[in-house]
Amino acid sequence: MGARSTWRVVVAALATLALAGLQVGLAQPRLIVNGRTIEGNTTALVSGVSYAPAGPLASALGATAAVDSGRSLVVLDAGGRFLQLQIADSPQAAATLEGAMRLDGTVVPGPAAVASGGDVYLPVKQVAEALGANVTFVASEGTVIVVQPRARLTGMRVLRSPERLELSVSRPVRYSVFYNEPVQTLQVYFERTDVEVRLTPVEGDRFVVAAALPSSGGVDARVQLREGTSYDVYQVADGAGFRLVIAFGAEGESPLAEGMRVVIDPGHGGQDTGLVGEAGSESSLTLATAERLAASLRQRGFDVVVTRDGDYTVPVSARSGAGIGADLFISLHAADVQPGTYNAYYLGDAADVDSLDMAIRENAAAATAGAGDRDQTDRLRRELLLGLVPNLEAGRTYAEALGSRLFTIGDYRSGQVAAAPLQVLGGAAGRGVLLEFAPSDLASGELSAVLTEAVADLLAQVLATDGR
Ligand SMILES: [Zn+2]
Repeated sequence: MGARSTWRVVVAALATLALAGLQVGLAQPRLIVNGRTIEGNTTALVSGVSYAPAGPLASALGATAAVDSGRSLVVLDAGGRFLQLQIADSPQAAATLEGAMRLDGTVVPGPAAVASGGDVYLPVKQVAEALGANVTFVASEGTVIVVQPRARLTGMRVLRSPERLELSVSRPVRYSVFYNEPVQTLQVYFERTDVEVRLTPVEGDRFVVAAALPSSGGVDARVQLREGTSYDVYQVADGAGFRLVIAFGAEGESPLAEGMRVVIDPGHGGQDTGLVGEAGSESSLTLATAERLAASLRQRGFDVVVTRDGDYTVPVSARSGAGIGADLFISLHAADVQPGTYNAYYLGDAADVDSLDMAIRENAAAATAGAGDRDQTDRLRRELLLGLVPNLEAGRTYAEALGSRLFTIGDYRSGQVAAAPLQVLGGAAGRGVLLEFAPSDLASGELSAVLTEAVADLLAQVLATDGR
């Protein structure tokens, strides 16, 4: 019997089982993902379709799952790639919801997730296939078998200032990090991974040697640290796979933050109060958030500059100037938006009339005496058109990357993410983002905590992709 006809038998068996399941309530099929049994697989929610609990399924596929109940979404992060599923109102609606699954923002075929008994269930076949796995149903054993192709550790290299070790993995896999204290060795174990033959051990300043060897079906990468070395481990999406980055520093400091400068610009100040509402003036709200954010980023070792530390006027040229050479410039503002949502603007010509209005308003609020508001905006627009502003193309990426973290970390949803000719972002160019939040969110301490996480995470990505 050829492979093709075997497949036909499997399909027929699936259809039969679906019917049988409907009629006599057969025992639920077992689910085995990469050799691990996943409990709770069921075809009873959506008749004949295997659904499994989101957390264990994601984890077995080398991903993490986060539920955004506000937007009825479940988001899987697989080595920096995002698979997002709508959660249907009812199991009946799961199959008919349009655009229910998106991989990195692009719609992929598949039904929605389903909530049941306080848990969120994912359609096994479509989720596994979206993450590159093969799915087979073995009718004779009543078992769904999901297998991801093995990954390869394709590269291991040392990057400088700060020193980092970068491990390139060809696809998402589960990995674990363990520090073996007695021998000062960091052990990273990649499951179901093979190691490239010519991957030679590397040496560094903060570590003695790093080597990767095959070990019980996976790869064991061992990094022997020098005395008094600290480390941070983070991952960055890289094509179909990811890079695991280990950053090194001196004991007691965060290697990640070393040498990174963040500029925080609390909007308005002095005579210019910005919006005034129940929660207070925009100028005082942005200042309070900026101070909390600056303090917690400094605690993590970042070099932080705040464009004003009191209630006074700061010319836009000074704000913008502070952004020159910054790794990230964040201008904080309030706006009349729903709590839990934000607008993000990056430097560029206005995407639409709304953001141009916003740009003129903000430029006017911050304008120095002499030039008219319209003139300021027009001059910047000319510079933008002439290509005189550097790193412009990075702006959208930064705004979107910061936004996706505000969502995954703090459940903040985006309103507008748009380009605008904003004077204040001129200095930082592509590394500047102007964020608008609801006044009540700025008044809460929680937002600065979320922003801290989001900024640290974004800068980890910058560090990894810039090759600084
Ligand atoms: Zn404002």
